[in-house]
Parts: sequence; structure tokens; C-alpha cells
Amino acid sequence: MVDLKSQYQHIKTALELEFQEVLESCQFIGGPKVNAFKASLEQYLGVKHVIPCANGTDALQIAMMALGLKPGDEVIVPAFTYVATAEVIGLLGLTPVMTDVDPHTFNITADLIEPHITPRTKAIVPVHLFGQSADMEAILALAAKHHLYVIEDNAQAIGADYTFSDGTVQKTGTMGHFGCTSFFPSKNLGCYGDGGALMTNDDNLAAQARMIANHGQSKQYYHDLIGVNSRLDAFQAAVLNVKLPHLDTYNAARNQAANYYDAVFSNIPQLTIPARQPESTHVFHQYTLQVAGGQRDNLKAYLQEKGIPAMIYYPVPLYRQQAFAAAWHGPAEGYPVTEALCASVVSLPMHSELVEPILKKITDGVSGFFSGVL
Ligand SMILES: *Cc1c(COP(=O)(O)O)cnc(C)c1O
Repeated sequence: MVDLKSQYQHIKTALELEFQEVLESCQFIGGPKVNAFKASLEQYLGVKHVIPCANGTDALQIAMMALGLKPGDEVIVPAFTYVATAEVIGLLGLTPVMTDVDPHTFNITADLIEPHITPRTKAIVPVHLFGQSADMEAILALAAKHHLYVIEDNAQAIGADYTFSDGTVQKTGTMGHFGCTSFFPSKNLGCYGDGGALMTNDDNLAAQARMIANHGQSKQYYHDLIGVNSRLDAFQAAVLNVKLPHLDTYNAARNQAANYYDAVFSNIPQLTIPARQPESTHVFHQYTLQVAGGQRDNLKAYLQEKGIPAMIYYPVPLYRQQAFAAAWHGPAEGYPVTEALCASVVSLPMHSELVEPILKKITDGVSGFFSGVL
């Protein structure tokens, strides 16, 4: 699904130099590599504060702690997402309130969120799923109207641009009170271990998040509140320092691969290609097709036989996960779009190193399946 090896070959020399510097400095936690990455990412995203941390899940947790969310507070999340989004809500004793998603973008929308707002609602977590921004203008307006916090889960969309109706362009992850991202190796900007970060334009929230990520410490050995230990280490920052300057190129390569897929798959009536919204660029963390006629699992098995990887993100709605069963108060039959997506989506290999012969093998495999079925 990803090809980290080929990407590594292209940046090998630069990485070795960076690693050497970390080894010589003996600064393994924090230090110049982490500070340099923080500053470069702030500049790239056009955001006032980046707070590096240990992983994307921690970033979400720290954001919710920094916003002062308390047990019983309700947080609205899509039912069609990776578990981490809702997991930290449960972990902090908050109540996850799940919404259905849009059938074309796979994202939550203001219209889907609004009916779930109650006097206990404190925050909305839009997930920019698979690499495309949720409709932030409408979501931010809804949040402002109801005095809610917005925490963007930007783990899959780093580098995407969202355009507001007045023409203002902002990077995903910089529009809400907090944006959270992950540098897990397979993400669009991945390190070689775990890593994550929070983004915010609010000085007070930044200070709070920084304190929480560092044992609630205001100055050394003075702990103002209960925090966590969540740090980006210098080796991971070194990898990110090498890769960040290539992020736009990597995302462009993903778009080229997506264009190649689109051109072939738009001619196959049983397939729905990923929707592209005019207000957001797409950075294709995943290239996800919808397969009609109940053929998804057969297609996946067929591809597997041909040595073509395919994955299902995500096979189970959040509310059907055992861990979230108690938190589910919606209809027993679930949400129509989330149910339909879990049964029909399939994601194909997507990364920065997809060359034409590989793309052709993949599209030939998919086409072969449907010419057999027809
Ligand atoms: C990867 C991911 C996370 C969690 O990131 P980790 O670094 O693995 O903790 C959270 N939300 C979404 C949507 C993700 O894809």
C-alpha cells in the first residue's frame, strides 16, 4: 500500500547527515532538531504555533485536555473514521456523539452535525478523511453559533489547502481551535517511528498544550496541572526535517497517481471514484473507491490473488466497535451512509513512488475483474 523503501533511497544521504548530527549532539529529546522542525512546520502551514508530541492520538488527547473538556461533555465525531478520533474522547470520560458522513466526500458536514448539538456539546472533531478537507467554512460557522470548540483531525490531510468563499486559503489543521496531526510512517508526512503535533493560532491554548504535553510543567519541577509525557524525539524530527521540504512534491505525486486511477476507473460503471471538492485540494492519503453491486470483497480477493494490495478503510462503523457499543444511542441499524461505505469502499496502493508500470498493473487488475464480472 505504501513504498517507504523507494522514498528512503532518494533521501538516504540527507538522512544520514541529519542522524549523524543527532548522534554527535547527544540531544535525543527536544533540542535543535525538534526546534528546527517546529519552526519549519509553522512556516509551511502558516500557523502561529506547532506543538510537537509523541503521536497523533496524543495530539487529540492533549487538545481536548487543553480546552478544559470535562467528563460528561459531548464531543461530535464522524462514525466513519479511524478509532483514534473517538478513543481519546472515551479515555478522558467525555461522551463521543457520532454522526453520519457525506456519501461523496466521506466527511462530516454542518448539516449532519447540527441535529446532534445539545446543551452538553462542547466540541466538534472534523476529520479530513483520506486527504481532503471537510467543509470547514460551514462547520466553523456552526461552531461559532453554538460556542463550540473545533479540533481538526488532520492526520490524513497534511498539506491540503482549503479555500473560503472570500478567497482566503488556509492549510488544513490551522482553521480550528486546534489541529492535530500524525507523523506515523505511512502518513503523507511520516517519520520512522511515532510522532505527532498540535497546531493552533491561539497563544493561550498553545501554552496550555505545551504544558500538558510536558507533565503539566510550567517551569522545571513545578507542575501546575496533571499532564502527560508526550514528546517528539530528535531522530524523528531529523527525518521530518528532511521530508518536509518534499511534502508538496510527495502530495503532487499522489495526485498524479490518483489522476491515472481516475482516468481508468471513471469508465467502469460499478466504481465510484473519489469526489474532489472545489473548496479543498486533495492530498490522497488514501485513494478510495466505492464498489457497487456487493462486489467489493470479491474484487479485493481477486486483486490479492494477482499480488495487488488493497485495503478496507474502514470495515466497521465506530458505533459497531465493541469499545464504543455503550456510547451508542443511535438507531440499531446504524447510519445509512456509514453502513453503505463500510460495505463498499476499497483503497488501492497510494504513495509518492507509484510509477506507471505499477499503476498499470493495478488498473489492469481492477479492469480485469470487472470485464470478468460483466
Ligand atoms: C493515524 C490517525 C490518527 C492517529 O495517529 P497516530 O500517530 O497513529 O496516533 C488519528 N486520526 C486519524 C484519522 C488517523 O488516520
